[in-house]
Amino acid sequence: MIKVFLVTALLYVSTAAVADQHPILSLVIDDIGYSLEQGKAAIRLEGDHTFAIIPGASNSQKLAAFARHLGKEIILHLPLQASTPTAPSEPNSLQASMDENQLTRNTASMLAEFPDIRGINNHMGGLLTEIEYFMRPIIDSIRIYNPKLYFLDSRTTPRSIGYSLAISSGLRSISRDVFLDNQHTNIESIKLQYQIWLEKARVRGSAIAIGHPHATTIDFLRENLPQAAQDFRIMRVSKLIEADTLARKRDNWENYLAHLQNSRLN
Ligand SMILES: [Zn+2]
Repeated sequence: MIKVFLVTALLYVSTAAVADQHPILSLVIDDIGYSLEQGKAAIRLEGDHTFAIIPGASNSQKLAAFARHLGKEIILHLPLQASTPTAPSEPNSLQASMDENQLTRNTASMLAEFPDIRGINNHMGGLLTEIEYFMRPIIDSIRIYNPKLYFLDSRTTPRSIGYSLAISSGLRSISRDVFLDNQHTNIESIKLQYQIWLEKARVRGSAIAIGHPHATTIDFLRENLPQAAQDFRIMRVSKLIEADTLARKRDNWENYLAHLQNSRLN
């Protein structure tokens, strides 16, 4: 009975109960490493954001150092083979043709490129993230490399198993809620996605958006985030995961006590 109750409490918990009444926004900017100028413009955005760095790109190390210098959170943007064969692919992408050993070795060597990352999220990966055969060695090598890292599932496909596999393997994990700029030349689309991000956070207590260092996206965020910061708390992904875990624990504990009291009265 108590077990059933705790599971139910877990399902209904929301991060809205955390710390103060403001819903939480987390912003991740992906694909950092190609353009030095655009990367720097993204990293300079006011606020506690998270930057996902592509391993092996020409400006990855410089931009990681720049983010570090400004005290920003960085994560590894792990390149995975896309589901469409025509999509441009990173030279170091993990591929469906690789065996378990190659997947494990390549993941570990990309993790080692940035010693101070707090987590990982996937770049592309529609195909690989749907299949446990590929994702298991990737998740396992992240956990073996450093069990404190988190896995942010970019959800480039709705059928991704990344989040659930990471959780069941004992890694902390969270999923992307909104992509801000899949149509980055269309400002109306960015505006709409941004409103959806804020609305999801209002309804659910927190929401994670992923954007890219396109000039349109960064200009839009620079103009609009200061306003959002008045009504929302903006926090890096590692802090959001921490707050979420705390809320779950606290909510469980409070509900558990209430349950004990009720069962005594009955
Ligand atoms: Zn990407």
